[in-house]
Amino acid sequence: MSKKLVALSFFKSNKIHYYLENSLIFFPCFKCHQKAIMNSKDTLWNCESCNEQGTLKYLINFTQQNSLENIKKYKIYNPRKKRKEIYKQFSSLKEQCDIKTKNELEYLQKEIDELLIFLLKNR
Ligand SMILES: [Zn+2]
Repeated sequence: MSKKLVALSFFKSNKIHYYLENSLIFFPCFKCHQKAIMNSKDTLWNCESCNEQGTLKYLINFTQQNSLENIKKYKIYNPRKKRKEIYKQFSSLKEQCDIKTKNELEYLQKEIDELLIFLLKNR
């Protein structure tokens, strides 16, 4: 099994919130609960907030010595997932309104889309 699959399986089986984007796994830092980023190829990770770092082995050792109940409560904000949810809402609204409002909503959605693509590329 690849290291990536082992890492994903670790988060899933321990019910720790995560998401995968390209080869990066985002999850709540075990120390400060802010966003930590793991490279799925070698499982090296670091936290953007507290600078804690390690490998998957560190996280596995942590789970053997500590309770995960607290960590399970934290969710990492996933911008792509949030965008999908917002677009669903837009679709639902467009079905319920008149043609003028529908056009305005479509324009607004395009503007937001452009802005988000820009922000996601430049982060
Ligand atoms: Zn941290």
